[in-house]
Amino acid sequence: MKNQKDIKCSFCGRDKSETYVLIAGITGHICDQCIQQAQNILNDEMNSKLKNTINSHLTLLKPVEIKKFLDQYVIGQDDAKKVLSVAVYNHYKRISSKIKKQDDIEIEKSNIILVGETGTGKTLLARTIAKMLNVPFCIADATVLTEAGYVGEDVESILTRLLQSADYDIASAERGIVYIDEIDKIARKSDNPSITRDVSGEGVQQALLKLLEGSIVNVPPQGGRKHPEQKMIAMDTHNILFICGGAFDGVEKKIAKRLQSHAIGYKAGRDSDHIDKANYLQYISPVDLKAFGIIPELIGRLPIITHLEPLDKPALRSILTEPKNALIKQYEKLFQLESLTLVIEKNVLDFIVDKAFEFKLGARGLRSICEAIFLDAMFEVPTAKHTSKEFVVTLAYAKEKFAKTNVNKLKVA
Ligand code: ADP
Repeated sequence: MKNQKDIKCSFCGRDKSETYVLIAGITGHICDQCIQQAQNILNDEMNSKLKNTINSHLTLLKPVEIKKFLDQYVIGQDDAKKVLSVAVYNHYKRISSKIKKQDDIEIEKSNIILVGETGTGKTLLARTIAKMLNVPFCIADATVLTEAGYVGEDVESILTRLLQSADYDIASAERGIVYIDEIDKIARKSDNPSITRDVSGEGVQQALLKLLEGSIVNVPPQGGRKHPEQKMIAMDTHNILFICGGAFDGVEKKIAKRLQSHAIGYKAGRDSDHIDKANYLQYISPVDLKAFGIIPELIGRLPIITHLEPLDKPALRSILTEPKNALIKQYEKLFQLESLTLVIEKNVLDFIVDKAFEFKLGARGLRSICEAIFLDAMFEVPTAKHTSKEFVVTLAYAKEKFAKTNVNKLKVA
């Protein structure tokens, strides 16, 4: 047995009196300072391993696989899915090739703009991609943004949100995805170089430029201007993927006008034959966004444009039952937790879709209609004494519950 005084840390050699804690092992000892140092080494190792696995994970996912993943959650929208898959693949490829520093060809950043009616899956697509890549994701609403110095939020607040979703891990936030919703609402208010400043329109577009193109931005970690004393965090936006979405109400007219004016030339007749007049959105191009009031500099920083189709009845019907976390699957699960099998007659699903279509509630409305139909059952089932193992929802039941609700209350968005 060693004398207490002779005990030393087996790693650094400090003797007991120089340490705060000395922990004994089978054949040796370790002091608090060595434990701390070992912990730091371990953290660094773990972080670099984690980064490597993220990188290899990203390169493993090919566009076809990305699209397949999206297919599980998002119905239809094949064009948008394809464009997004390629853009996201190239974006993250670009980041990893930068890390490897292969040659001096630099692939440019490919921010994306999604154009489509509200409730067609724009946010869902962006959110699903972030989920798949396991990168930080945040949604920002362009309508609350204003030019710096005016009432509203500064554009930097977007990055605050991203930072928060990354748990303030700057490196991981710097390769995240930001979805900016309602980008169409910051369109230039008029073509006239205005007498009053357009602080929520063109002013915001100008402010967004530096974020989107990739630069070092000072971000208030707590957000807002309420904490002027907070220390800013410098964030590099080069590797952040920005996906912007908007309904661009009325842009079809501008597309139609452009296509028709093209058709007047000597080639008239040939090109115009192919135009699908029921869906002008598929022909959207940067020119139309400019005509809508997006400044060319911003369009330049959103090089990838794609559109989302309006949802028809078959699409709504699929949304109800097919995605991985489809609404009906969620209700089935809820009832299952009460040891009941939820049986929904087929015509009930058609009824829900018809009502959503009739009242123009879109995909978001499906949820409120379902809530209206299932609310009473979900209220009573947990306490009721069940004689049967099934809970059957018939068309008559659904109609009765739906009739009791105020349709105006169901309108969302
Ligand atoms: P927006 O285009 O306005 O961003 P969202 O993506 O927020 O629309 O869609 C609202 C909700 O509607 C989603 O959470 C999802 O449940 C449903 N939804 C919309 N479009 C689709 C779709 N194509 N496939 C599956 N669900 C969809």
